[in-house]
Amino acid sequence: MVKIVREFFFFVSFLALLLNGCAGPAETGKLRVVASIAPLAYFAERIGASHVAVSVMVPPGANPHSYEPSPRQVARLGEAALFVKAGSGIEFELAWMERFLSINPALKVCNGVEGIRLLPVKHDGFAHQDERFDPHYWLSVANGMVIARNVERALAAADPARRVEYAANLAKLQAELQLLDREIQGKLAGLKNRRFLVFHPAWGYYADSFRLQQIAVEEEGKTLTPRQMQRVIEQAKANRISVIFISPQFSASQAQTIAREIGGKSRSVDPLASDYQDNLRRATSAFIETMR
Ligand SMILES: [Zn+2]
Repeated sequence: MVKIVREFFFFVSFLALLLNGCAGPAETGKLRVVASIAPLAYFAERIGASHVAVSVMVPPGANPHSYEPSPRQVARLGEAALFVKAGSGIEFELAWMERFLSINPALKVCNGVEGIRLLPVKHDGFAHQDERFDPHYWLSVANGMVIARNVERALAAADPARRVEYAANLAKLQAELQLLDREIQGKLAGLKNRRFLVFHPAWGYYADSFRLQQIAVEEEGKTLTPRQMQRVIEQAKANRISVIFISPQFSASQAQTIAREIGGKSRSVDPLASDYQDNLRRATSAFIETMR
C-alpha cells in the first residue's frame, strides 16, 4: 500500500513537472542568451527575435569597467546557451569570462568585436603608442553592422533550425543601420565646429566614423590630477566648448567642476543604452547642439 501511494505521488509530481515544462514560464523553448552589456543585448534581441530570451550582465547604470556579477547571475549562466561578449578588453569580462566557462563549459561564446579594428586610446586627441585599446567600439554604426553579423552567425550555430529566420532578421537590421548611418551623417554635414567634450572617453569610434573630434577628460577609470584638470579646462576654453558630456555610469563631481570652470553645464549621454539606434540619434542631437 505504502508503495502504491509513493508511486502515485511520484506519478503526480512527474505529471506536474511535465505540465510545468510545457505550459510553464514564457521563456520555455527559447534560446537563453546572456550579453555582457546592454548594447550587445540589443543585437541578440533583434536577430533572435521571439526565439531568444536575452539577459544582460551589467545592469543599467552600473560601470562595466568595475562591475561584479551577482552570485545569482553567475548561477543562471548554467542555463544559458550563448554568451555575447564585447571582447574588447572591458575589465569585467577579463576578470570573469573564465569563471563563466567553468560554470557552464557548454556555453557558446559570441565575440562581438570579431572583424573590428580596435583603435588605441587617445589623449588630447593624439594616440599614444604604448596605450591599450579603446573598448567602446559598438558606438559606431559601421561597427554595429559587424556586431550584427557576428551575433547572427553565433545564433545560427547555436540554433541551426532557425538560421533562415536569423539571416532575414540580420538583413532587416543591416538595412536599418545603413539608413541610420546616413541619417546621422546628414545631420552632422556642414558643421564647422566638430569638437565635443566628454568626461569618460566612450565616443571615440563614434567621433571617428563621423569625422568629429572627441576631447576626453578621463583616462579610462582614473581620477584626474589637478594639473590634468587644468589642461582640459584650458583646452575646452580654447575651443570655446561650454558643455561637458557625462555617462550616467560615472561620478559627475569632477565633470561638474569642469563645467563650472568653463562657464557651462554638464549633460548626459549614455554609451551603454539598450535602445541602440534611438540612443545614437539622441546622442547625435545632443552633440550637435553643443557644436553649433
Ligand atoms: Zn568605458
